[in-house]
Amino acid sequence: MSAKYVDIIIDISHEAIDRAFQYEVPLSLRETLSVGMQVQVPFGRGNHLRTGYIIGLSDEPEYDPEKIKSVHSIVENQVPVEGQLIRLAAWMKETYGSTMYQALKTVMPVKERVRPIEHKTLRLSVSPEEGRLRLLEYRRKHSVAKARLLEALLENGDIPYELAQSKLNISKGTFDRLQEEGTLEILTRTQYRQAGTARRMSEPEPELNMAQQALVEEFRQDYHREEYHTYLLHGVTGSGKTEVYMHAIDVVLARGRQAIVLIPEISLTFQTVMRFRRHFGEQITILNSRMSKGERYDQFQRIRTGEVKIVIGPRSALFAPFTDLGLIVIDEEHESSYKSDNLPKYHARETAQERARICHASVILGSATPSVVSYYRAEQGEYRLWQLENRAAQQALARVEIIDLREELRTGNRSRFSYRLQELIAERLEREQQSIIFMNRRGYASFVSCRSCGEVVNCPHCQVSLTYHDHHSDRPKLICHYCGYTEDYVQQCRNCGSKLIGRFGSGTQLVEAELKELFPAARILRMDADTTKGKDGHEAILAAFGEGKADILVGTQMIVKGHDFPNVTLVGILAADLSLHNQDYMAGERTFDLLTQAAGRAGRGAEPGTVVIQTYEPEHPVIQAAAGQDYAAFYENAIAYRRLLKYPPVYSMLAVLVTASREEQAEAAARKLADLLRNQPENTGSRAVLRVVGPAAPVIAKVKDIYRRVIYVKSLEEPCLLLARQQLEEYAAALEASGECKVYFDRDPMKGY
Ligand code: ADP
Ligand code: ZN
Ligand code: ZN
Repeated sequence: MSAKYVDIIIDISHEAIDRAFQYEVPLSLRETLSVGMQVQVPFGRGNHLRTGYIIGLSDEPEYDPEKIKSVHSIVENQVPVEGQLIRLAAWMKETYGSTMYQALKTVMPVKERVRPIEHKTLRLSVSPEEGRLRLLEYRRKHSVAKARLLEALLENGDIPYELAQSKLNISKGTFDRLQEEGTLEILTRTQYRQAGTARRMSEPEPELNMAQQALVEEFRQDYHREEYHTYLLHGVTGSGKTEVYMHAIDVVLARGRQAIVLIPEISLTFQTVMRFRRHFGEQITILNSRMSKGERYDQFQRIRTGEVKIVIGPRSALFAPFTDLGLIVIDEEHESSYKSDNLPKYHARETAQERARICHASVILGSATPSVVSYYRAEQGEYRLWQLENRAAQQALARVEIIDLREELRTGNRSRFSYRLQELIAERLEREQQSIIFMNRRGYASFVSCRSCGEVVNCPHCQVSLTYHDHHSDRPKLICHYCGYTEDYVQQCRNCGSKLIGRFGSGTQLVEAELKELFPAARILRMDADTTKGKDGHEAILAAFGEGKADILVGTQMIVKGHDFPNVTLVGILAADLSLHNQDYMAGERTFDLLTQAAGRAGRGAEPGTVVIQTYEPEHPVIQAAAGQDYAAFYENAIAYRRLLKYPPVYSMLAVLVTASREEQAEAAARKLADLLRNQPENTGSRAVLRVVGPAAPVIAKVKDIYRRVIYVKSLEEPCLLLARQQLEEYAAALEASGECKVYFDRDPMKGY
């Protein structure tokens, strides 16, 4: 790469990232300099030499060339981790469309001076026998928090304080009381090191079976030959993927390198974290999105200094500043939470591959239901496909029954619960086993409409229906889930004045209410966006259900992810097809994932489980594939559909979202952008490489009083799409500068606009 000028940042603290300075590149260095390199430059009045990082290259001076200073020299040694992250940021900017500043902000740790955080550890101070006696005592007295913590200590040995607090939902008071009673000690980090390692309380880790061994061996051999691939590990839930990750990490650690494990926040449970900790001890640390900036910075320091070798966390843990990163694992790689909602709208999977390419590392993607994108790449030979066909611990997969809801209606059943499902729930109650009732939230908004004129009560600021809530106070309210707008519920139509206004659809609350009617004696827990508002709301509900405090758990998506409840032998899925008919091309994939994952919740213990899928379209291929737990059938169908309709991964796609406070402005700007694309000389007639769809009003055409328009651009040739976006960016910059509207890019969008 050759450039006359470079943009340099001197101080890579978060606050200063946007202050770049332009320097001239001396002729002798023009061929050598690239983004991410560390250089010495004269700085300030005195022109003292300072070290800085190159964040951009250009051929044009930004101001009077006479006044631009020259780069002094390159700092000779390897590109430090900051340099690697800057390269990654530059790639993200190019690939997803954002400013360099936005990209840097995403990858760089916030530098914030904080009091060093004390990392404390909890340790049982009595013998396990005595511990078990006290556990019985706590249970008898219904001291549930104490019992929960003590049980975890008996099972796992030492536990980090922070983890017990956040994931087991234990309060400071409980820790203190247990300490006073002499049940546990709270050790500081130094004490902990002196006191030696944890006593092992738990069962030994399992030996890898043949299938797992073969994969780990392949990984080891590739790694030793310095062949760094991306592997896609496809294995049903419980097939032992996590064991494979841990042994692959062993290979990497043995070479003195480090590893990142990405797990969606919702699946990052206490059990999962403790499994990694049992294997890796103090070498592992957790990042989570609830951490304060200071806590995060503190963790990043521990990573940078090499005190920690493995980090486990959600999407943003991908930017952990390891100096010699050797492996990135992405568990549940199909999860939509791996795609960022903020600019740059990056996907962790591709970004991980790019980071791995920069630092010569491998990537392992794992899932029971791989994304269509990844499976396609594996088919194309871009990824190595690994399969684990059977459950490791030999439990049987659940039995699946499909119930045709049309048939139910015909026989006069107006309930949301089919007769068969009611019968099965009753059976579980009798046998004191637990059930999970899962509903597709997307299709279930509890909106209010008028039976006389059909008017739906919408938010005045957003084009979405308001949701009915009756648990806030004694007066029911209507709430907008996009902007938070709230009004009192009035039993009269705004449009025609009719009093025949009411709730339709059925939120989780309504399902819960109906269950109570059907089974008055059953203890029911509900888990949805409302009951989990508090800091650790959803952990608390799951813990309660796990402790057998309820017979039935009712909830949305959140209940189907990665939780193990051995006593659950029935999962009922209400109206499985409601999410099939969303406006976007991934609706089928999402439905398949949800149904498969929900089915995976049944029968994790000794008893085989039963899954009931209620649907209006039993013949739909996605429902059929999910019922048969047949990934191959699902994939064949999905890829054929995407090929036919020109969607990713067969085609590359770019969503261009235009927003403005006046509708005409949004419309006009979007038209202009679409025309620009259509009229490119290289994109006319039979040579057209870009397909431009729109502009159109999105499904939700107004949010918080801002109007939206969307254009979709598709191409078989990805570089053409990249080029098109760059052209749009120039025009968009002019539009934004005039203050009329904003333009956002979303590459291979995972949701409909
Ligand atoms: P996945 O990540 O694919 O869901 P896990 O690695 O969590 O699967 O394994 C599921 C269960 O099977 C865990 O309880 C784990 O301890 C157990 N397990 C994994 N591998 C083996 C093995 N080789 N032998 C016996 N049990 C195993
Ligand atoms: Zn609103
Ligand atoms: Zn009306």
